[in-house]
Amino acid sequence: MPDILMNSQIQLCPSQLEITFSEDCNQRCDYCWVHKSCFKKLKFSAAKKGIDIFLDLPLKERTITFTTSEPLLYPELYKKILDYILSKNNSGKINIITTTNGLNLNGDIKSYIIKVLNKYTNFRLNISLDGNKKSHDAHRKLARLKNGSAFDISWDNFKDLPRDKVRVIFTVTPEEVDFFEDNIGFIINNGFVNIDIFPQVFTAWPKNKLEALAGKLSRFIENINMDIVKASNLRVLNRLWGTSHYAKLLLAPDDNFYLFEWVEALPYPERKSYIVGNVKKGIELNKRADFFNVLFREATVKSSGKCLKCNFKNICSLPLPLYIWSKYHKNDFNKNLSNFCSIADVFINLSEKIKNDKRNELDSKKVNLRLKNG
Ligand code: SF4
Repeated sequence: MPDILMNSQIQLCPSQLEITFSEDCNQRCDYCWVHKSCFKKLKFSAAKKGIDIFLDLPLKERTITFTTSEPLLYPELYKKILDYILSKNNSGKINIITTTNGLNLNGDIKSYIIKVLNKYTNFRLNISLDGNKKSHDAHRKLARLKNGSAFDISWDNFKDLPRDKVRVIFTVTPEEVDFFEDNIGFIINNGFVNIDIFPQVFTAWPKNKLEALAGKLSRFIENINMDIVKASNLRVLNRLWGTSHYAKLLLAPDDNFYLFEWVEALPYPERKSYIVGNVKKGIELNKRADFFNVLFREATVKSSGKCLKCNFKNICSLPLPLYIWSKYHKNDFNKNLSNFCSIADVFINLSEKIKNDKRNELDSKKVNLRLKNG
């Protein structure tokens, strides 16, 4: 295990299992990082075995997530698996997080999810919403209806969701920075109170766009009215901040466990070297820990130990997904890291400004939020 993080962030047993049913999606977002080159679909029997293996790990609390590709592409399978997980609540506390683009969030599956939302406090629904129609549709294209609007369909499904029970996942891209105020205003003025603001990952942020985003985010946070009625939960995060990776594990459509979900950014044959078990054999815990160790050391040497000297090392650490992505694409890791650090600087400083937050404490932080003129 990486010495610097040993005894703090790394644990031999992963505490977060991401389940991907398939890499197919009903959207083709131009910033999607999933390579979409595995054409298998997870069967219920394999998912069940994978979940059993994960639940057998000696942990008091754990999280199961459905956050890559689109889980509601298979509503029946999703429901069956969720029912199965919920029936296992005697395995200690299980947090469950689902992220959907909302295109299929309708009919029976929507009623089912709302029921679960109302019943289980440990169940969270994330909805991907990049702001108003113009910005949302700028990057989110429908897979099968080229000229259709993803926003129109998703918004129809989102607009009557219980606002206090869902979290908006708002991804900001360099192209949409100029419309940041319109988009965050749209989300807040439509009553959403739990919001994660993420920068687009695996992209080079031009300096002027990052500076513009820093200024806009900063003004936005200064304009938050702390006295306002609604207790809200706003987070400014970067998906690639490193410390959470060491808790993760992916159960993939090919019945294998992988190091974490970020391997899905690589072509299918390339990611096989990151397999750490399968639903028949179980999780190879030591192999998983060794992988992190090797990757951490490789990336540390490559970057001349930059992260070890950095003030943010306990929050963002070394972005291993960026390292394996750069390695595969034969990109200059240090150049990508430098871009990443500039983004980290903006987002960490601002998240601290919200309430002196630290990455690992953000989940429990509450802020009162409203745009002054909202
Ligand atoms: S900001 Fe950069 S140098 Fe600092 S911990 Fe994050 S990735 Fe490492």
